[in-house]
Amino acid sequence: MSYSLHEKLAGLTPYEPVAGTFSVRLDANESYFNFPDWLRMELYEIISTFAFNRYPDVSAKTVRERFAAFYGIDPDLLTAGNGSDELIMLIVSALLGKGEKVMVIAPDFSMYGFYSRICENPVVVLPKGDDLLIDIDEVIRRADEEGVRAVFFSNPCNPTGQGLKREQVRRLIRSVKALVVLDEAYMDFWDQSLLGEVDDYDNLIILRTCSKALGMASLRLGFAAAYPKITTALRAVKSPYNVNSLTQEIVAAVLKYPDYVRTCTNRILESRDRLYGALSALFAGEKDARVYPTCTNFVLVKTPSSLRLMKALGEKGIAVRELNGCLRISAGSKAENEAVLAALKDSLKEGEKGE
Ligand SMILES: *Cc1c(COP(=O)(O)O)cnc(C)c1O
Repeated sequence: MSYSLHEKLAGLTPYEPVAGTFSVRLDANESYFNFPDWLRMELYEIISTFAFNRYPDVSAKTVRERFAAFYGIDPDLLTAGNGSDELIMLIVSALLGKGEKVMVIAPDFSMYGFYSRICENPVVVLPKGDDLLIDIDEVIRRADEEGVRAVFFSNPCNPTGQGLKREQVRRLIRSVKALVVLDEAYMDFWDQSLLGEVDDYDNLIILRTCSKALGMASLRLGFAAAYPKITTALRAVKSPYNVNSLTQEIVAAVLKYPDYVRTCTNRILESRDRLYGALSALFAGEKDARVYPTCTNFVLVKTPSSLRLMKALGEKGIAVRELNGCLRISAGSKAENEAVLAALKDSLKEGEKGE
C-alpha cells in the first residue's frame, strides 16, 4: 500500500465559511429576506405530493423556463448547475484543455483560481490598482500575451462591489481570443447585464445565481447562459442529475411571483444605500480608510484596523468578512445594519484609546 495525495493538494483544507455562532450575519452577501408565510404555504403543497423516489429532470426544464421568463431570455440558452459554483468547476474541468491557462483579475471571487488550480490549469493573476477597477486594455493585452484560453471575472465584482459598464465588457469579449466567463451573481442589483445579448458571442458564458438577490442560497441553483454550441457542450458534460428536484420545484414556484422577488431586491438596494451612506460617514475621519462605491448588496471598506474590527464585531455576535485589509459588509435588515454600525462606532472609539 502506498498512496500519497497529488502534490497539487498539499495544504488544502475544506472551505470554512466564517465560523461561530452569530446573531447578525452580514458576511456572505445573502439576501436578508427569508420566505414569507404565504409563500411557504405553497411550498408545503409541493412537498405533500412530491415524488421523492424519482430522479430529477436532467435539463431542469420548468425552472429554466421560469428563470428565463423572469429575465426575458430564451430558456434554450441556459444550463442549470448546483449553484454557479458547480458551473465554474464544470467550465474549468470540461471546457478547458489540459494545462490551458486561465486569467483572473484580483481581487475577485476566489473560486475561479481555486478550481483552475485543482484542474491543473495555470492561473495568470492580473492585479487591480488602488481603486480596485478593471483596466480593460490591460486585460486584453495580457490575455493575448499570455495566450490564456479563458478569462473569469465577476461583474459587478465580489469583493470590490464595483462594476464595468456594458460597453466595456463588450469590448473585452470582442477583443480577446479566449472564452470570457462573466459572473453576474450580483447583476440583479445593477443594470448592466449582457444576458439579453449572450448569444451574440461565441466566446461568452454568463453565470447567474439564485443565491443572492433571489434569496435562495440554501437551495443551490445557478445558471450558465451561452450561445447554443457552448450550451450543448455544458449540458453534455454536466453530471446528469446535478440539480435535485426539490430545488427545481421550489425555485420554479418562487419565480411565479416576480413582483415579490423584485420587491425584495429593491428593499435590499435601499438597505445597501443606507449602509453605504452610514459607513462613508463613519469612516470619513479614519486615517487611511476608504469606502468603495458599490453596485452590489454589500460594501467594501478598506481600513488598517480591519482585523481588529472584524474580531470586535465577532465578539458582539456580528459576522462580517475580512479580506486582505478590508471589511466586506452585506446589507442587512434595518436592525442588522444598525447593529453593525453601532458596534463599528464603538470599536473605532476603543481603537482611538488603544493607539
Ligand atoms: C455568491 C457568488 C456566487 C454564487 O455562487 P452559488 O454557487 O450560485 O451560490 C457566484 N459568484 C460570485 C462572484 C459570488 O459572490
